[in-house]
Amino acid sequence: MLVIVSMELLRQLRKIATGVVLVISLLLGVSSIFLNNASGLEAKKIVYLSFDDGPHPIFTPLLLALLDEHGAKATFFPIGHRLEERWESDDLHDLLNRGHALGNHSWTHRDLTKESKENLYFQLDRTSKQIESMTGFRPNCFRAPFGERNNNVLAVAEELGMKHVAWTIDPQEWREPSIEEAMEHISERFENGAILLLHDRRFLTLPILHEVLKRFPSSEWDYRTIPECKVDNEKTVRSTFREKDAVPVGNVTEVVKISENFKFSGWGYDPDMPEGGLQINLSANSNIENFSFETNSDHEFTFEIPDFEIGSPVCLWLENEGLLRHNTFLGCHNAS
Ligand SMILES: [Zn+2]
Repeated sequence: MLVIVSMELLRQLRKIATGVVLVISLLLGVSSIFLNNASGLEAKKIVYLSFDDGPHPIFTPLLLALLDEHGAKATFFPIGHRLEERWESDDLHDLLNRGHALGNHSWTHRDLTKESKENLYFQLDRTSKQIESMTGFRPNCFRAPFGERNNNVLAVAEELGMKHVAWTIDPQEWREPSIEEAMEHISERFENGAILLLHDRRFLTLPILHEVLKRFPSSEWDYRTIPECKVDNEKTVRSTFREKDAVPVGNVTEVVKISENFKFSGWGYDPDMPEGGLQINLSANSNIENFSFETNSDHEFTFEIPDFEIGSPVCLWLENEGLLRHNTFLGCHNAS
């Protein structure tokens, strides 16, 4: 009798225990779904792409297009004299409009540790001046050519308002490795917080970047600009710099998930519309109705769109007013 009862009891207990385990795992499951939704984009691991030694007349624009296809952001360290020779102010604004960042990489790519103090100052200051003459601001970060730096280099850079930015992954694509070799090197070191160094003067960088974005998709990895390179008051300095009849400038500063919607925030400024009301066009994909919004009197915008679950980035344009010229592309951004 006693044995039977305890057997019964045991069976009951086991049932209850199974039930409790089920309820707990259900709760855990639900809460993890909830947490994932609530934290949205922040749940991804953050990585930083950086491209040195540009701009290249063909490879840099192709690279920018590839980044947009994946909603990925990157930081560029162009060489000062190449910027002066090859790019217009509008090209540099285009890079910034699309959400990328800029740093100083010296004027002629010399080993700065071997330069006199005077030349060292020239190499960094001339480049910052060049960037300022094209964008309205001096960069906050620099990357020493070959990564070669000492206390003198760092002190002069600091005097010029710049912090040094190194890297954690360097596949040395200038040595012409195979894509497999480069990817092996990258994959072993690809982790949260990693900074990948590539060169936009090399063709090989394109297939390598293509492979990186395929193997480490932007649905799982958040490709951001290097924080040290962020420009204070970017909106004010870049807007003030803009002259009448020029195409607008702008930036998407934040994309966050709010329940079923994605909230986009940013700014757009057209000198031909000083009161604001600038139209922002948005395209998610060809099958979905396109949306348009307007900037307020502070030249800022905030709007929400539903989660289309289309898995491809949402692209934005600022409608140009004034002289008939192209609209300003604000890049493509992940909202999935
Ligand atoms: Zn370099």
